[in-house]
Amino acid sequence: MKAGGGTASPARYVRPAVRRLHAYVPGEQPKIEGLIKLNTNENPYPPSPRVLRATRQAADARLRLYPNPTCQPLREKLADLHDRAPENFIIGNGSDELLALATRAFVEPVGAARPSRSRIQFFSPSYSLYPVLAAIHGAEAAAVPLGKHFALPTRAELKGKGWDFSAALTFITTPNAPSGRGYRRAELEPLCAGQKGVVILDEAYVDFAEENSMDWAARYPHVIVSRTFSKAYSLCAQRIGYFVGHPELIDALHKTRDSYNVNGLGQAAALATLDDLEYYKRNFEWIKATRERVAGCLRELGFEALPSQANFLLVKPPRFPAEEWLQRLRAKKILVRWFSHPETRDFLRVTIGSDTEMKTFLRAVESLLR
Ligand SMILES: *Cc1c(COP(=O)(O)O)cnc(C)c1O
Repeated sequence: MKAGGGTASPARYVRPAVRRLHAYVPGEQPKIEGLIKLNTNENPYPPSPRVLRATRQAADARLRLYPNPTCQPLREKLADLHDRAPENFIIGNGSDELLALATRAFVEPVGAARPSRSRIQFFSPSYSLYPVLAAIHGAEAAAVPLGKHFALPTRAELKGKGWDFSAALTFITTPNAPSGRGYRRAELEPLCAGQKGVVILDEAYVDFAEENSMDWAARYPHVIVSRTFSKAYSLCAQRIGYFVGHPELIDALHKTRDSYNVNGLGQAAALATLDDLEYYKRNFEWIKATRERVAGCLRELGFEALPSQANFLLVKPPRFPAEEWLQRLRAKKILVRWFSHPETRDFLRVTIGSDTEMKTFLRAVESLLR
């Protein structure tokens, strides 16, 4: 069947910025039986039994009703957890939605004002969604290279790399993705404190790290901390993320979101998650221990494994190019991630799976080296 009629291309109806857009490429979600999926940093362990029960119980006749428009119960519970007020919180359909809202609320499209007001700044490599959000909004994406081994540049180095202390919006992924490198509060704080625009600390992986910067969302009116239930809390499918920040900034985001941006089952699942945090803390410890053990084994096999504070490892494989490893592992039904950017093309990113999955992965690696 033909998708459209006529001769003139309907592409002309699409905004040029969207026509030119290189959309974000999510990790593959294939349907191959028996595949071991180590490519999208999902948690290998299921949500707590309480969360599954609460979600099932919420799936009844109430599905015909709109959900709570502001996620009030969830914001109250998160406020208790982080010792803040509900006004400091906005919940999103995944933290991805909130990152997009931040570009709309805090950044002018190019051409409207001073260049810094239209600048979305982030380190490279980091989360590859940020430049896509800038392109959609018609803002400038300013990627500033990280240092050696993905280290944060010092203040002096930043100047040389064209860092803009007045950028309207700065995204900092901490711990970094895709490297897994954790940053110390002592090195992050001068960077955050010195910015004149909004800083978003994207702490998607912080539950696997040694330090977090949640308290800065209270200390600095221009700093927002972003968290998600996806990776650490085994809830990718339900799409729940949240921002913590000054009520004036949070208010601006509430104004720009959809009225019912977070679905009801997701809200129920997130609430139940917060009732069983002990279950998740045990998972974090387990995954961190697996991560360290797998990094050790890979190093013995000749891989360079960068220290990680996330639920994945960035590793430089021996013998074949990284892209070839991706294919060879795939042929053995193991899916990892490879990024073609110059800074990462020699590496594979491997999500920490269950102990059984990692044993199979290591066995596959050994057999490919034989
Ligand atoms: C996965 C991820 C997110 C988005 O998570 P959601 O599922 O949308 O909550 C945000 N930032 C980073 C760095 C991520 O890796």
